[in-house]
Amino acid sequence: MTGILVALGGNALQRAGGLGSWEESRAQMRATVGVLAEIASEGHELVLSHGNGPQVGALLRQNEISTREVPARPMDVLGAETQGQIGYLIQTELTPALARAKVARSVLTVISRTEVDRNDPAFAHPSKPVGRYYPEGEARVLRKQYGWVMEYDGARGGWRRLVPSPRPVRWLEGPAVRQLLEAGLGDRWVPVVSGGGGIPVVRRRDGGYEGVEAVIDKDRGASLVARELGLDTLAIVTDVPGAAVGFGKPGERWLGAVTAAELARHQSRGEFASGSMGPKVESGLEFLRAGGRRFLITDIPSLARAVAGEAGTRVSAT
Ligand code: ADP
Ligand code: MG
Repeated sequence: MTGILVALGGNALQRAGGLGSWEESRAQMRATVGVLAEIASEGHELVLSHGNGPQVGALLRQNEISTREVPARPMDVLGAETQGQIGYLIQTELTPALARAKVARSVLTVISRTEVDRNDPAFAHPSKPVGRYYPEGEARVLRKQYGWVMEYDGARGGWRRLVPSPRPVRWLEGPAVRQLLEAGLGDRWVPVVSGGGGIPVVRRRDGGYEGVEAVIDKDRGASLVARELGLDTLAIVTDVPGAAVGFGKPGERWLGAVTAAELARHQSRGEFASGSMGPKVESGLEFLRAGGRRFLITDIPSLARAVAGEAGTRVSAT
């Protein structure tokens, strides 16, 4: 059995331009689970991870609206809530899809904490936009009242809060899931892990851990999981069929089968935007350098063919 980690991007969970209702999320997930069941039916060990940007945004907004009656929860708790709701959604929709594909596996969501270093330079330089866009006046109040770092987005005409995005160091629940796979139980379970990159926690002096006001990049979190579990393939699923050079420009070229060295060369020429494709490429290269065999970037319609080596950007270690 070869193990595959499929990391689902926001689009696999929520349709662009939708309202973000639960019914929409279910419909979107229903359109996603067929190919996951197909991969499992081919005999691969399957581990899932997912992003949570829009879902955290919705919870932040609920916090704002309800704060006079229900105290706002901190960001790490919101991260845990999104792992719960999205894990539940995957369990609900993937379970019958597995049954239809005659795959006798159960879906198991693991609330995942990921240790970050409290001295990570990211804490001094918040970079990840979260939540909604605020008009100038409101942004000024929030900066003053809460000390938020905010960034103006000209295209959207509003201000957005930036939070630190530290590097994931260690996935605390990793050993439990590794034991499950090492015991040969990958043909019985589909673990859903490290949602939203994992809940960022730092180690306390007493040996315990506590959550921090930050978010971990889900692509980096997925790479850490794939390395920790010693999986063969890391597949990052997004809303484009692969990585391109000259993206969005005349002469744009989609990458098919490439080596890690070739991909790194394109990366060093600045082909992959820092807030989107950049972290995927960086995370995939890290996975391959740590002994991973294959890194895929693809979308849901092409995922099965990408796993079969026929579509998507397919990166080999050498
Ligand atoms: P996800 O939610 O799946 O992480 P992102 O928006 O973060 O999605 O990343 C996917 C996006 O990356 C694509 O929609 C595309 O606009 C952008 N992108 C930036 N550079 C490239 C590139 N070189 N090739 C392909 N897509 C790119
Ligand atoms: Mg992204």
